[in-house]
Amino acid sequence: MSDIAANLAAITARMARAAQSAGREPDTVSLVAVSKTHSAEAIRPALEAGQRIFGENRVQEAKAKWPELKAAFPNAQLRLIGPLQTNKVREALTLFDVIETLDRPKLARVLAEEMARADRFPQCLIQVNTGREAQKGGVDPALADQMITLCRTEYRLPVTGVMCIPPADEAPEPHFRLLAELAARHNLSVVSMGMSSDFEAAISCGATHVRVGSAIFGSRPPHAP
Ligand SMILES: *Cc1c(COP(=O)(O)O)cnc(C)c1O
Repeated sequence: MSDIAANLAAITARMARAAQSAGREPDTVSLVAVSKTHSAEAIRPALEAGQRIFGENRVQEAKAKWPELKAAFPNAQLRLIGPLQTNKVREALTLFDVIETLDRPKLARVLAEEMARADRFPQCLIQVNTGREAQKGGVDPALADQMITLCRTEYRLPVTGVMCIPPADEAPEPHFRLLAELAARHNLSVVSMGMSSDFEAAISCGATHVRVGSAIFGSRPPHAP
């Protein structure tokens, strides 16, 4: 077994235990393998081990790595988990199956226009900046209800859930709970939260998707995004 296959097996086992202790079925939580900064060759063993859902945070980087991987593994699903600029929307729609970082009205408008144009309608998650951090994307939590309604009713976007990245220096649980409550209030089925260091806590708070990078692929270069 490759190191990556062993890591995937270990994470999957921990996810199942966390789900069970929260009284949830293990198959209600999906693993998003975050492959940002890692080369196509480094990602391949994860695909060979059966992992099919991946997250990337940059459109250009995904464009350089994923066409060949998707050709070899056509049922791989790619999720955008980093900020999306409106001038990259068209390209993003050709690469990604899910956009997890819809966080402002202008982006909603451009996504709606370009989806209609491309006749491609990837699921969208509303990113919420639960810690109100200046350097992070995401809609302010006080405006999240309004943003969800705007995206669904005004722009008719396929919004299926919510996503957050809690502050690194705080207990994540209050952020996770806020996000899960927001999803429940709007009848949204997808709650994307939890990373290598806190995915078990996220599962206990209701995550349906955990985004795990370094615990699968190893640590990233120090100044990588
Ligand atoms: C990098 C990243 C992750 C994965 O982080 P790890 O700590 O390596 O598991 C998850 N979510 C987002 C949005 C990221 O940018």
